[in-house]
Amino acid sequence: MKIERIETLVCHARMRNWVFVKVITSEPGLVGWGEATLEWHTRGVLGAIEDLATLLVGEDPLRVEHLWQMMWRQHFWHGSGIVRATAISGIDIALWDIVGKHLGVPCHRLWGGPVRDQVRLYCHLGGGRMEDFYQVPVQQAQRFAHLAQEAVQQGFSAFKAMAVPPTMPLEGPTAVQAAARCVEAMRQAVGPKVDIMVDCHARPSPAMGRQFAQALEPFGLLFLEEPCWPEHVHELAAIRRSTSTPIATGERITSVHGFRDLFAAGACDVCQLDLTHCGGFTAARRIAALADAYGVALAPHNPQGPISTAATLEFGFSQPGFVICESVHADVPWRSEVVEEGYQLDPRTRTVRPNRRPGLGVEVNEKEVKKHPFQQEVLQRVFYPDGSVGDW
Ligand SMILES: [Mg+2]
Repeated sequence: MKIERIETLVCHARMRNWVFVKVITSEPGLVGWGEATLEWHTRGVLGAIEDLATLLVGEDPLRVEHLWQMMWRQHFWHGSGIVRATAISGIDIALWDIVGKHLGVPCHRLWGGPVRDQVRLYCHLGGGRMEDFYQVPVQQAQRFAHLAQEAVQQGFSAFKAMAVPPTMPLEGPTAVQAAARCVEAMRQAVGPKVDIMVDCHARPSPAMGRQFAQALEPFGLLFLEEPCWPEHVHELAAIRRSTSTPIATGERITSVHGFRDLFAAGACDVCQLDLTHCGGFTAARRIAALADAYGVALAPHNPQGPISTAATLEFGFSQPGFVICESVHADVPWRSEVVEEGYQLDPRTRTVRPNRRPGLGVEVNEKEVKKHPFQQEVLQRVFYPDGSVGDW
């Protein structure tokens, strides 16, 4: 069996253009699906996949590790930049889908079989609808509380909110107090048993991040995500030491080496590797082994499309350290029409039982995908009150 060609399908889903990768083999009907979504870099990723295809066409798709090494090492530049890493990830996921289909087993069976009966999902406020999750000002605490109740009514036992506003590198306490009121309102709305996560989106400087962590500590967060700029690993470690709230990060790290440095610095309790950015399953399994050695839990980043979710769940069923799966269910109303999933979702508890179909278990409806062609993603930019550039 050989790889005949690699195609990409773009599906515009408002916040993001989902990039679906299709690896076509010489065996009739045997194709693998992956996802390489990278908002605001869609054209770059499509080009990177085309570049990588020059290494792979004609090769045996079942030699996944060997092909991963080619993608990482060949063409001279190691594949750790975000665009190439995302392209490698999408192809790698599709190759494992092919291996599963070839052997007639779900992907998680390739890595030792299911390690749990079910995986718990958490949602974004508003189900990931752009206006609800990204655009409600933190000052509107009651709106956050209402959306939190809505998530619980939809069956979720855990949700995430962007309850930390953009702040200048140094500010007085107003923004920190607003964040605390917002999280307090959500906690009061849903009670003590629901798990709340707050994503700081790496908006704060290290100095502001320490203040947010301290102010939100009383509300018992499941984790506080990216509490400061991601390049500052040692400052992240200092924030972690300053609070009992678990610290989560890792969605922007694109190689095992980045995770090595993060864990060695003691900078997080929860690893948020992204299957579609870290190098696919091949790299994620190495990162998971490293996380295990450092006692760091896994809660992958997954706000992208449905193939990314299927991949994250296959990973979750194979990894003992996996604690919860990020999910987006209402970013676009036609989500389930473009991809049919193999896993079984219980809508009352928002828990998932394992996929029993081969590979990722996904069926892509290419006709439906083509109804949503590429459009430029909506710009999301932040400028501070003095006109300088901030972090979104
Ligand atoms: Mg995040």
